[in-house]
Amino acid sequence: MIAKTVKKHAKILSGAEFSEAIKREVAADVKQLEKEHGFRPCLVVVRVGDEKASEVYVGNKVKTSLEVGVISEHEHLPADTTEQKLLETVENLNNRFDVDGILVQMPLPKHVNENRILEKINPEKDVDGFHPMNVGRLAQGQRTLAPCTPAGVIEMLKRSNIEISGKHAVVVGRSNIVGKPMAMLLLQENATVTVCHSRTKNLPEITSQADILVAAIGRAGFVRGEHIKEGATVIDVGINNVSDKTQVRELFDETEIEKRLRTIEKRGFTLVGDVNPKEAREKAAFFTPVPGGVGLLTVAMLMRNTVEAAKMRRLK
Ligand code: NAP
Repeated sequence: MIAKTVKKHAKILSGAEFSEAIKREVAADVKQLEKEHGFRPCLVVVRVGDEKASEVYVGNKVKTSLEVGVISEHEHLPADTTEQKLLETVENLNNRFDVDGILVQMPLPKHVNENRILEKINPEKDVDGFHPMNVGRLAQGQRTLAPCTPAGVIEMLKRSNIEISGKHAVVVGRSNIVGKPMAMLLLQENATVTVCHSRTKNLPEITSQADILVAAIGRAGFVRGEHIKEGATVIDVGINNVSDKTQVRELFDETEIEKRLRTIEKRGFTLVGDVNPKEAREKAAFFTPVPGGVGLLTVAMLMRNTVEAAKMRRLK
């Protein structure tokens, strides 16, 4: 039901199916909390300035909250908001009992120190899982709020019955948002984990040993056939805008090229992952597409973290 066969033997893991399933579970949890404990979890998203991408991301979070029954508030502050004012905003939300999750949309304007803002959020309400306290708990294998994108990858693997325990997982990328928490979560699931980055020597030699290969790099189509072991599971976290038609022809097979070129005509770009999809499909056993893969799980996992935060704080 979850995977459909495409050319050669790679199976596509559909982010839509997983995210819909998670959202249904969250909605049922919200109903139960309301019935048994008389409250619905509340998520507040704070946005500073008018960056278009942030507006889209926040809109998506608000819409999904409504879909699953989570109470949603959106605090939109002007681009010249001072760091002090933002710290006060977070402090007020920390002090409100009815607020279960606080998410400050990144990036923040240059004059604001992002780390200072993240550290101000009460770790119990840190639904992004970026507070050092939650990062530390994750590293220690304690129950915590884990970052949404890597937590979504683990959900995808488990729900596809892909064995993690004892497998060699290679993560390319070591950001605080994806690479590092991804490695921690895989380790917690008993994988043998290798983390690669821009200084790694002989990258294909290492990645081609991976049973599970996670790419979180930020470079369109960077992971090629030579990086992939035959029969591996390849998880593509990357989201890159590609407007070059020649690059599209190199990355996709005939069935996809026309569709992608039409998207470029219409929107000016098409979304491409960090993995070369044509080559990955020929070598991998499982593969996540972009778009339609990991990206769809991130917001669903944010909803789950909000419910989890509410349970951990209010029902302890
Ligand atoms: P990032 O902070 O820019 O980190 C990129 C990582 O890739 C760094 O650790 C970097 O190594 C490594 N890297 C860069 N070039 C490399 C190379 N040639 N060989 C090996 N490693 C290399 O990016 P990020 O925030 O982790 O995001 C990664 C990708 O995931 C982006 O495309 C982003 O848009 C996407 N993303 C998707 C979601 C989602 O919801 N699906 C969420 C977050 C991010 P160094 O540390 O040595 O510089």
